[in-house]
Formats: sequence, C-alpha cells, structure tokens
Amino acid sequence: MLLDFFLHKQECLHLKVPIDVDEAYCPDCGELIKNKWFITRCCCCNIKRTSHYEYNEIKPNTKYCPNCGSTEFYIQELDKINFTDVNYAILKKTIIPQNKISTSQIWIEKEDSLAQEIKLIGFSK
Ligand SMILES: [Zn+2]
Ligand SMILES: [Zn+2]
Repeated sequence: MLLDFFLHKQECLHLKVPIDVDEAYCPDCGELIKNKWFITRCCCCNIKRTSHYEYNEIKPNTKYCPNCGSTEFYIQELDKINFTDVNYAILKKTIIPQNKISTSQIWIEKEDSLAQEIKLIGFSK
C-alpha cells in the first residue's frame, strides 16, 4: 500500500524512456533520465546472480549463491549493458537533477521545504 501511494503520488516510472539509450528526456514528466544498469555478483566466486528490486534495493533472487553457497554479494554498476548481461542486470532509471528555477514552481513557492525537495530530487529516484 505504501508503494502504491508513492507510485500514484509522485513517481513517474519514465516508461517511455527507451532502455537502449544512455539518457533521454522523459516525455511524461520532462526529467532527464539516465539508464543505469546494475548487476549482482557473488563476493566469493564472482558469478553473476539473478536479482530483483526489494524495497528499492537490489537483492539476489536466492539467498545462497548457486555456485559456491555463499550469502555475500556485491552490486556492480555497468557502464554499458551488453547482450549477455541483460538477463542478470537490473535497470534503474535515475533522474539527473537539473536547474529548474525558471520552469518549476517547487523552488519558488515552497521555500520552507526546499531542503526536502532537494533530498527527493537527489536521492529518491
Ligand atoms: Zn518520467
Ligand atoms: Zn559464489
């Protein structure tokens, strides 16, 4: 329910931004979106592990590495997605914050919550 609330309240999922470009403007919300690809790897044997989003974090699909049984993993950000990684990679569409003083009302009308807005723009997407 909380997730639903956030989705409807303020989140644009930028679904129209193509995933085969590095970055593009979202036609739905006008933000500049960068496609970031992440992959989960085992700390022990370095195998790529299939993963998913859980509470906005990237987690492996299984608790234990299918190759070596380790529970330790790390997340690697990919510079470029390639064909072999696409089954493992997680895509995160990240807003690149821009100076919107002339076009956005949030900077002008809500001065008291400016810090809050900066936080949201900078870190939540
Ligand atoms: Zn959008
Ligand atoms: Zn392993």
